[in-house]
Amino acid sequence: MAKALKDKPQVIIVGAGFGGLEAAKKLACKDVRLTAIDRTNYHLFQPLLYQVATAALSPADIAAPVRAILSKCENVEVILAEVESVNVEARKVKTNDMEFDYDYLILATGARHSYFGHDEWEKLAPGLKSLEDAVELRRRILLAFEFAEKTPDEADRQAAMNFVVIGGGPTGVEMAGAIAEISRYTLAKDFRHIDPSKARVILIEGTSRLLSAYPADLSERARKQLVELGVEVRTDARVTDITESGVQLDGEFIPCRVKIWAAGNNASFVGKTLIAPVDRVGRVIVNDDLTIPGHPEVQIIGDLANFSHQTGEPLPGVSPVAMQQGRHAARNILRMVHGEKPQPFRYFDKGSMATIG
Ligand SMILES: Cc1cc2nc3c(=O)[nH]c(=O)nc-3n(C[C@H](O)[C@H](O)[C@H](O)COP(=O)(O)OP(=O)(O)OC[C@H]3O[C@@H](n4cnc5c(N)ncnc54)[C@H](O)[C@@H]3O)c2cc1C
Repeated sequence: MAKALKDKPQVIIVGAGFGGLEAAKKLACKDVRLTAIDRTNYHLFQPLLYQVATAALSPADIAAPVRAILSKCENVEVILAEVESVNVEARKVKTNDMEFDYDYLILATGARHSYFGHDEWEKLAPGLKSLEDAVELRRRILLAFEFAEKTPDEADRQAAMNFVVIGGGPTGVEMAGAIAEISRYTLAKDFRHIDPSKARVILIEGTSRLLSAYPADLSERARKQLVELGVEVRTDARVTDITESGVQLDGEFIPCRVKIWAAGNNASFVGKTLIAPVDRVGRVIVNDDLTIPGHPEVQIIGDLANFSHQTGEPLPGVSPVAMQQGRHAARNILRMVHGEKPQPFRYFDKGSMATIG
């Protein structure tokens, strides 16, 4: 006889991003009770945030309601809540206002920006991780052009038309390319007292090349394409201070109103509450089957996980890793429910890309 829903093993997935949502889709309509908890009620397609930030897309274009995605299967419930901690010994997840018991847990709360100990820079140079971040950046970018159009002061006008992007990884490269493109093309004819195509877009990277996780020839190609779009690329350049009026590099001050931070990530704080080993950016160091030591019922996936069993280095923080791990973690749970052991994970790398302009 089929078990009543309440007698089935309780699975909790925290985070309905790329990893968590894939896991949830795999466990929907299966022989488990599934609770998916996220602090937002939508799944966010982060790779296109830069298009919202530069007004090419609207927020609804890149956010899909989690409830609607998972509503077909009765074994799934969706809870909107901020998770504060996990007690692995008691098998409980604590949110801001509730507590949930689990038999199996998948933790997929991703990452946030890191300001390398300069949290005071966050207000001055927002990063790009959430819809709120993207809308705020869009506001700042468009208002900078509006301010430049009105101000009688030449220095203020130039500062308003200087856009500094800090960090030459995929997010910084895409953001710089998109700002250059809207200033050269989209906005080019919309103003009377300024020429938006004269905006300076300056991309600052601390290492010797852009896209340092990509092969060197792709870094060089990205640099050339950005330069063709009019972006000033500064490599080996270190930001030493950020103020309202601009960005200080070693030996140079760039006056600017809009600064964008794309330079570093820290894993979500929830990982640290597990009392499992974490690396220097807070990622939970997982076993080869995505579980944590001593707790096969707990799996960590995506940007929150440090999985170093394949190449000796942690897998990159990209969506295919999170999605493949999400599907694998779900399959592991179904195995364990049937009395089998979780299986080791292997990543299949289909390659990477970044969009310029
Ligand atoms: C601007 C940008 C551009 C990117 N471009 C690319 C790209 O081109 N290609 C690519 O492959 N990857 C790209 N990435 C990386 C990719 O988006 C991540 O690797 C991927 O999102 C990781 O998936 P995840 O499931 O681990 O975390 P996420 O997708 O970040 O999901 C985490 C989820 O957890 C929720 N959450 C977090 N904390 C809590 C909490 N305390 N309580 C409840 N819920 C919580 C969040 O709301 C979110 O829904 C980009 C990332 C960014 C920010």
